[in-house]
Amino acid sequence: MFFDSHAHLDRRSFGDEVEAVVARAAEAGVVGIVAIGSGATGADMTEAVECARRHPGADGRGPPIRAAVGVHPHEADRAGPEAWETLARLVGEPEVVAVGETGLDFHYAFSSREGQVAAFRRQIGVATAAGLPLVVHCREAEAACLEVLRSVPLPDPPGVIHCFTSGAEAARAWRDMGFLLSIPGVVTFRNAEPLLDAVRSLPVDALLVETDSPYLAPVPFRGRRNEPAHVRHTVEAIAALKCLSVEDVARVTRVNAERLFGIAAEGASAPRLAYVIRDSLYVNMTNRCTLRCTFCGKHRRARGPGSDYTVKGHDLRVGRDPPVEAIVAAIEAEDPGRRSEVVFCGYGEPLLRLDDVRAIAGGLKAGRPGVRIRVNTDGLASLVHGRDVPAELAGLVDVVSVSLNAPDAATYARICPSRHGEAAFHAVCDFLRRAREVLPEVWATAVALPGLDVEACRRLAEATLGVRFRARPYDDVG
Ligand code: SF4
Repeated sequence: MFFDSHAHLDRRSFGDEVEAVVARAAEAGVVGIVAIGSGATGADMTEAVECARRHPGADGRGPPIRAAVGVHPHEADRAGPEAWETLARLVGEPEVVAVGETGLDFHYAFSSREGQVAAFRRQIGVATAAGLPLVVHCREAEAACLEVLRSVPLPDPPGVIHCFTSGAEAARAWRDMGFLLSIPGVVTFRNAEPLLDAVRSLPVDALLVETDSPYLAPVPFRGRRNEPAHVRHTVEAIAALKCLSVEDVARVTRVNAERLFGIAAEGASAPRLAYVIRDSLYVNMTNRCTLRCTFCGKHRRARGPGSDYTVKGHDLRVGRDPPVEAIVAAIEAEDPGRRSEVVFCGYGEPLLRLDDVRAIAGGLKAGRPGVRIRVNTDGLASLVHGRDVPAELAGLVDVVSVSLNAPDAATYARICPSRHGEAAFHAVCDFLRRAREVLPEVWATAVALPGLDVEACRRLAEATLGVRFRARPYDDVG
């Protein structure tokens, strides 16, 4: 369930208890750990790699452990040729998934600034050449870290800012460079307001979680030795801040970690036809749609080419439309009667399969009359099918949420290009008007893209079309 992205599992931290600590992590639901081997000597690095070798994960003896190796900024002045040679050798080992922790620490002056910068640059080069992400330690040295990182080629993806405790502005700077942010147990502390602000402002897709064991134990263990089994408390604090479930945050941060570190997770690649976020059960009908929205993950990733069909840690790439029987089986496996609502959504336009949506919704209503059904739609179904789609949903659907996304046709055509041109925008408005007449609850939404006049969208929805309006953050899907 939980992935601890940063733990020091060495004898210096845990004596001869390392194996007991790993066993307790497994009992607490930890399904992955990155053991950090960073120091002034090759022995520090080798110890983490040996720990990873003892715990491949496939043998059922605890969670899979992988290793990050590097020269810690505290040790930059002391690292000699043996450390650098060991680092160069170990980055080729299969257990090693990252270089670090490396970076700059101007809080403690354990190494000179010049020495730290030189060691940091050298390790960025090692990581880039090896194709491994960086685990960056940055303490009271943000401007200098950013300056170094902006001056050299970086791995892709670049890596993670370990033990992130700064505010929202710093988080944005790191995100703009493509880094993930690893949140430690500090998020459970009462006096961590800047960090709490940052976590509130970030999509959970940008986060990892870590213990930094044996340091920084979360409440209720604050002040005591930390260990990976305690990572749950960090996840719980993030879930409370993000209005998500513990399962949601655990799943998303695990998937983020597995992707960043290139760790293949068992069963993680199976596409989901029905999936739970918070207390809602979502139904993934199709990957098809008739638009090419500029903000859509199907058509772009934050960095680099390709597409991303992942929503809150669920893989929604289904390829060809799955058969109705498979979708119904997937819904039933998730116990729809226990959920607050069933939502037809997915990474495509569900009402392209209008008759299938009606059949599935009808079956759900017949078997469980109290079930609440919502459809999230682009609002183009009446235009595409040439039918009065809102009327056909009446009695089956309780709520429709329609992506309006613009206050006028020209803006819509720019944000959501359609082969129907500007007629698409007018069709969405007509759909909303008609839905208001025949369905119990109707929402228009707009993705709050930078530069979009969200208040104009709100006025159009509420004053002109007579429906409720909600703005959605543009970088937080689901
Ligand atoms: S309609 Fe939905 S699935 Fe299609 S491009 Fe727009 S956001 Fe993506």
